[in-house]
Amino acid sequence: MLRDSINTDRLINNFLELINIDSMSFQEQGIGEVLAGKLIGLGFSVSIQSYGDSFNLVGYKKGKATGAMPLMLSSHMDTVESTGGIRVIRENGVIKTDGKTVLGADDKSGIVEILETLRVIEDMGLSVGDIEVLFTSAEERGLHGAKNFDYSLLQSKHALVLDSSGSVGRVVVSAPTHDAYTMRISGRSAHAGIEPEKGINAITAAAKIISELPDGRIDPVTTANIGTIWGGSATNVVPREVVIEGEMRSHTLETIERLKESMFEMAIKLARKHQVKIHIEDKRHYVGFKIADDDPFVRLIDVALHKSGTFPEHLVYGGGSDANVFNERGIKALVLSTGMQQPHTTEEHIYINDLTSGALAILETIVAFRDFRVG
Ligand SMILES: [Zn+2]
Repeated sequence: MLRDSINTDRLINNFLELINIDSMSFQEQGIGEVLAGKLIGLGFSVSIQSYGDSFNLVGYKKGKATGAMPLMLSSHMDTVESTGGIRVIRENGVIKTDGKTVLGADDKSGIVEILETLRVIEDMGLSVGDIEVLFTSAEERGLHGAKNFDYSLLQSKHALVLDSSGSVGRVVVSAPTHDAYTMRISGRSAHAGIEPEKGINAITAAAKIISELPDGRIDPVTTANIGTIWGGSATNVVPREVVIEGEMRSHTLETIERLKESMFEMAIKLARKHQVKIHIEDKRHYVGFKIADDDPFVRLIDVALHKSGTFPEHLVYGGGSDANVFNERGIKALVLSTGMQQPHTTEEHIYINDLTSGALAILETIVAFRDFRVG
């Protein structure tokens, strides 16, 4: 039984070791060195791919199985904020902090589940295909590591990304395209008490524009949000400038394009009507992906999850991850839950049982993937 080969104590020790290393985005040097050492200890050849602000860690190990396709396993090394001074509490089968810092299970639970799986494969001498490991950096600040990675270093066309929360068994099969925009609205300043007629109030114009823009849930798979507003300088000055920042997400690319176009057209029309200038900039943070529920790779993962004793649940998720970039670059990547709970909060915690189940789910998937053929 593969389940019996998972060593929970080893998993916990590795987890505690990693969460005690502070690794904010762009400051992954310390954890990177430890992980490189661990991968080398597992028989992997390791390379570091540097980019402007940080680096990605790539591991490769040839498998015993001939004719099997390579599989990539990925997690990110950075945490959403500092875990400096972390105090870990372990009680009733749960690992959490004293509530003063995040735990960093996002995404170190993913890393240790991968490492445990690789240890078992090595110790049991399991026949599996080639495995590539990609530990990315600065995921939390906008997928920087994944975006700056040199994909020619990889052979895999399939990947498991261990970076989702909730019960083990959850599989993210769809994530949205995410765009953001800035609208700079310029009127004309004037003394508000002496000659207000000479001014054009950017705040009132912005209010009229904003009130016409779609916001909130647009359709079941599309959202929009006006997130920040800045403007004005003093009560006695007709305000000259307002800056609005917003975003939109959709699981349908055409919808986001259409929404953006209609919003920007509307804003430009209203700006003209209210005699203000408007300058709009938009930026694509990441492209969405959607993998069919009956896709062979998804089905393989479903079977492996069942085998590992968890119930697969397909999720259409509202946020992005490195998997968005991998899919865009031609690697079919699904995001699996590691069992982490309430990430990005000081309530973040993980059940020890879920660390074990998470590792087993990966292990069963790797073993099943040995016989996977497409095309
Ligand atoms: Zn994460």
